[in-house]
This record gives sequence, structure tokens and C-alpha cells, in this order.
Amino acid sequence: MRKILGMPAVRIAIEANKPEAIAAMEAAFAGIEGNVEIVVLPVLYPQGSEKHQIYATVKRIVPEPPALPIDVGCVVENVGTVAAIADAVELGEPLLERVTTVSGDAVAEPKNILAPTGTKYSDLLAFCGGVKEHPAKVISGGTMMGFAVSSLDIATTKTTSGLLFLSPRRVFQYSSQACINCGRCLRACPMNLNPAEISKAMEADDVKSAEDAHVMSCIECGACSFGCPAYRTITQFCRRAKNSIRARIAAERAAAAAAAKQCKQ
Ligand code: SF4
Ligand code: SF4
Repeated sequence: MRKILGMPAVRIAIEANKPEAIAAMEAAFAGIEGNVEIVVLPVLYPQGSEKHQIYATVKRIVPEPPALPIDVGCVVENVGTVAAIADAVELGEPLLERVTTVSGDAVAEPKNILAPTGTKYSDLLAFCGGVKEHPAKVISGGTMMGFAVSSLDIATTKTTSGLLFLSPRRVFQYSSQACINCGRCLRACPMNLNPAEISKAMEADDVKSAEDAHVMSCIECGACSFGCPAYRTITQFCRRAKNSIRARIAAERAAAAAAAKQCKQ
């Protein structure tokens, strides 16, 4: 990837609670020429976000969207993607399988499973010995950013990182309330946004105000919703605003392209 991108240096960021991965990477890169460094980072959420990882690793700040990491001279890829690129470029192998973590207190034998993409969720669960008790909720993805699913008759894709089977003891039923202006979500937001303002704007379907509140910088980490005492679905409001803004931008671009085509004719 460094050769393809023409990058002068490689930084491999690993959190400090993964000593085996750190030792394996240090051994793999021992004696490799070039500016390669294993950077051990403290365990923090959401450190997987590329903006936070860039700052933690090389102390560069990526400006607001539409700026990208490349604008500060960085490209961030996770290790699975890098391995898939190596398979594709060096071996000519397409991405046909991925590791999915099957966990949660309702699973009989939690596991990391390397399985072909397209494997049904129910087959992954069966490979883990099924459930110990009926799960009250099944989440595809992580605890903070995943989505609840209502069926196991779903096939994995190359982005299915995990399946979480939660017992009734781990699931909390709630209904969303009005914002009490406690400010917790502002303190929790790693992007220094005002999630309360965004959620209130979207409750009124006011996408413009959400955009003015910089919702496009939201990384959908879920930290605001996690701590909200009013159980507000703030992250979902942010997602809805972002989707709406993206749809508007795409429509504007399509209209501009159509107008340009008409002018040429
Ligand atoms: S999900 Fe919430 S906490 Fe996370 S970046 Fe977006 S607004 Fe901030
Ligand atoms: S945490 Fe919830 S209740 Fe508190 S300010 Fe944010 S949205 Fe409002």
C-alpha cells in the first residue's frame, strides 16, 4: 500500500490491551526497511475513528468535511482491509471471507469465526453451539454502532464485523423523552458537536439547522445516545440528517450535470 500510494511512512496503531498483536507486529516488521513504526495507543473509544486515530498517531487534525485524511497527508486502513488488498494484489484473490465475532451473554460458545461472506447469521450461531437462552436482542455490529436485527436469516457481508446476542438481563426497554438540557451529550461527543441541538432540530425535521450544527462531522459513534438520561435516539437523528444532506447533495450534483449536458447539446 505504501508503494501504491507513494507514502513516506507507515504507522501501525494498536491499543495497549492487545499485547499479542503488538508482539506479532513488532516481530513481523523487525528488519523491514523503511519508516515503519508500531504505535501503542491507550484504550479509548472511539479510537477506531480515522480522525481520532490520525491525531493520536501523528498529531495531525483533519478539517471538517468535505476534507479527507489525505488532505493532511494520511490514509487510514484497518488491518482486515490491508490483508484483503495484499490478497487481491499479490495473490489475485478476491475478498470472499471475513472474521466475524459472535459474542454476547446469550451465546453458548462465543468465537471469532473466519467464514465466507454470505454465511447466514443462523449458521454462525449454530457454529457457536447456539444460544444458552433466548436472546432479547440481536445486534449486527458493535455495541455502540451496531443495528438490531429481527431475523437470523440474513447473510453476512464483507462489513459484518460482529453479532451480539443479548439476554433479557442485558437489554433495557425505554421510551425516548424530551431533552432536559443536561449537557451530558456535549461532554461525551468526541467531535465537539452539540448533539442535543442536532437531535432537537431533527425532531422538527429541520435538516438545515442540523447541517448548520455541523452534523456532517458526526462519526456516529453513539457516545451521545449512550449517556443520555432522556434516552434520546440522538445518533439516529444524526444519521437521518446526514442521509438527508447526502441525498440533497447528490440530487444537486445530478441536476448540475444534467444542466451542463444540455448546454453542450
Ligand atoms: S454520534 Fe453523537 S457523540 Fe458521536 S460524533 Fe455523533 S453527535 Fe458526537
Ligand atoms: S444528554 Fe440527552 S437530555 Fe442531556 S442535553 Fe443531551 S440530548 Fe438533552
